Amino acid sequence: MANVAFIGLGNMGGPMAANLVKAGHRVAGFDMMAENLDKAKAAGVTVAVSAAEAARDAEVVVTMLPAGQHVRDVYTGSGGVMAAVGKGALLIDCSTVDVESARAVAKAADEAGLDMVDAPVSGGVGGATGGTLTFMVGGGDAAFQRAEPILQAMGKTIVHAGASGTGQAAKICNNMILGISMIAVSEAFVLAKSLGLDAQKLFDIASKSSGQCWSMTSYCPVPGPVPTSPANRDYQAGFTAAMMLKDLRLAQQAASQSGAATPLGAEAASLYALFCNGGRSGVDFSGIIKMIAGE
Ligand code: NAD
Repeated sequence: MANVAFIGLGNMGGPMAANLVKAGHRVAGFDMMAENLDKAKAAGVTVAVSAAEAARDAEVVVTMLPAGQHVRDVYTGSGGVMAAVGKGALLIDCSTVDVESARAVAKAADEAGLDMVDAPVSGGVGGATGGTLTFMVGGGDAAFQRAEPILQAMGKTIVHAGASGTGQAAKICNNMILGISMIAVSEAFVLAKSLGLDAQKLFDIASKSSGQCWSMTSYCPVPGPVPTSPANRDYQAGFTAAMMLKDLRLAQQAASQSGAATPLGAEAASLYALFCNGGRSGVDFSGIIKMIAGE
């Protein structure tokens, strides 16, 4: 069992740190919010006064932060993790951030003689709490092998995607598919209604035909066909529209930096921006069907 520092104990990081404690690791945690520190303490995390203090005796540092700038600050800023950790520590960033930040921080780690992986997750707060997250891991083979047993305490599926940054690449490519497919499924249900085709009938047919996809069969945006989908509880999130917009924007940033053409990704980002700007950023992302229906 390892000495782990956990920085960023929010909706995701809090339960992830709690699962590391349950697996027998000694976890020192830090967050900017006192309320999150109190919750982590109740789950068995030793509270530190700064990221550097949490990292000082750590063999492994895990971060779960909002965005790229936070990750850069926490690792490479003055008083940051890289200046505080001992030689040989392993760094694991589980936040969803831009590919460029992930690669810049991994390069700084390499120059400091530290192993680092980017390991963003899929599975949301439910997966974080249940220890069933999927991790998409970018980094060298040796770093991946060291990270795997730590990630196993927080997740079920751990995939080595390739070199540094490819974990983030996998995350934004997956979520770009999800954002586009949710809009496509929503448009189909809105069109079906206007043509007098019952939603359940469309589901019965399309879920067994070539229109089948996860946005339809696991997360259907109309109430009824998939009883567990947020559509059945007034689009209570789930995965918020704001988070979908964040990931679609990261995909657009990566596309423009790499020269890839992603016109539907761009359209999906515009539609989610409209939805969020209309005051619905906290709604589940499948609620975009309401905007498409003109509601
Ligand atoms: P959150 O806002 O609940 O948690 C982030 C935490 O980081 C906050 O508690 C904040 O106080 C803390 N923080 C910010 N700057 C800090 C600093 N310098 N030092 C220490 N702590 C700091 O967000 P979340 O929902 O837990 O998401 C975290 C990451 O996980 C994001 O990158 C998000 O995109 C990703 N993610 C979230 C979900 C989800 O369903 N919530 C799903 C997949 C991925």
